[in-house]
Amino acid sequence: MRAGREDVADVIVVGAGPAGASTAHWCASAGLDVLLLEKAAFPRDKVCGDGLTPRAVAELARMGVGTQAEDGWIRNRGLRVVAGGRSWELPWPDLASYPGYGMARARMTLDQRLAQHAQASGAKLLERTKVTGPLLDERSGRVVGVTAQPLDARGRADGAATTFRAPVVVAADGVSSRFATALDITRRDDRPLGTAVRTYFRTEGTPRHEDPWMESHLELWDGAPGASTLLPGYGWIFALGDGTANVGLGAVSSTPARQSAAGNDYRAILDTWVRNSPAEWGFTAENQTGPVRGAALPMGFNRSPLYSRGAVLVGDSAGMVSPFNGEGIAYALQAGRVAADAIAQARTRATDDSRERTLGTYADRMRADLGGYYTLGRWFVRLIEHPQVMRAAVRYGLPRPVVMRFVLKLLSDSYEPRGGDWVDRVIAGLTRVVPAA
Ligand SMILES: Cc1cc2nc3c(=O)[nH]c(=O)nc-3n(C[C@H](O)[C@H](O)[C@H](O)COP(=O)(O)OP(=O)(O)OC[C@H]3O[C@@H](n4cnc5c(N)ncnc54)[C@H](O)[C@@H]3O)c2cc1C
Repeated sequence: MRAGREDVADVIVVGAGPAGASTAHWCASAGLDVLLLEKAAFPRDKVCGDGLTPRAVAELARMGVGTQAEDGWIRNRGLRVVAGGRSWELPWPDLASYPGYGMARARMTLDQRLAQHAQASGAKLLERTKVTGPLLDERSGRVVGVTAQPLDARGRADGAATTFRAPVVVAADGVSSRFATALDITRRDDRPLGTAVRTYFRTEGTPRHEDPWMESHLELWDGAPGASTLLPGYGWIFALGDGTANVGLGAVSSTPARQSAAGNDYRAILDTWVRNSPAEWGFTAENQTGPVRGAALPMGFNRSPLYSRGAVLVGDSAGMVSPFNGEGIAYALQAGRVAADAIAQARTRATDDSRERTLGTYADRMRADLGGYYTLGRWFVRLIEHPQVMRAAVRYGLPRPVVMRFVLKLLSDSYEPRGGDWVDRVIAGLTRVVPAA
């Protein structure tokens, strides 16, 4: 912080999930004074599948986050896809841009680890500090800081409300992003929205223990298997390497309106799926180590603009979850990196106008990189919303190795952006020719 000023910084980051921790790490590494404000105290839980694709692992490596087995990290080789009574093991592709493995780690420890990493890079983390709103410059309407409320261990106000100032504020406060909403940056109703639920089971002594594959079940029925409707989504089992597995399922709709109209009870569907699972997996009430919890997955840039009047939106606050697979951590980490670069560059500009244009490059770069991919994702969601398309894809597409190679790279966003084999070139070409979301 500035000498003698605890309440002034170069950047304020609201929320210390993956997006906030990444932004704070990269900004601090660029020599900026960073204030990272988090309403919870670590370790804290976050509803998630805890899966990290090679894309996420590549971001962790860029940040310099150690991911050794002795520190509790477990690697996986690829995806095991289960559908139509069969299963296929699909190794992560071997690419120059991404490692040939994924990982899984409970958010309870992952997020704490990332926040500590940001601190070690020089960011100042204030836990139990809830941001209550933006601080606006009266004349320009530009964001010049935040108002915040210290909380006690039970989440109640503890002491006087306070004010922090910075020329740039990053909203990394997750899916509901009250910060963005307070600036009238609301959610779009033409973007896909997912809903997912998850729980944890102890796995020792079961075949699920330390499974080297991330398992996806592509056939989710809203009632009895085979005799009810096939849902547009998938179920997962991710071994976490700590004696437990994250077990959950999610479904996606092309718009929030369709999501509410579907009116599915995902907890009940998870319950049915788990109850019908093989007895040797041990998914019993005795082995269940946490409640079933659910949350929304905001997809395909469902909040925009990504930059406005001194406020930068990263991660779930900007709706950066992939419509293809529900993955959001990799994009949250990436957004933090790209945002920090724009913020650091803006600091070197001499005029307000030039600083503003430089901050705006963040939105341009995110769209250039992900906009086309998210457009494809929106089309994909519209297709799989039709149960007959899902059924045909499972029956005729899955058994073909070429199709599966294509699907794995497309759905996990793990393809070579330049060069690579013909599959990489087709996917990269498609993302460039379609209009950016
Ligand atoms: C059931 C489910 C399963 C999922 N599975 C996966 C998966 O396997 N892999 C994957 O990559 N993604 C998955 N996702 C998506 C992933 O969880 C999110 O995309 C990711 O957490 C986004 O990170 P974030 O930092 O933007 O937001 P968050 O992780 O939500 O972090 C936001 C932070 O801001 C804090 N905060 C909020 N408001 C305030 C405030 N006013 N003041 C201060 N702090 C505040 C919160 O406490 C929190 O720490 C899943 C999501 C769900 C719901």
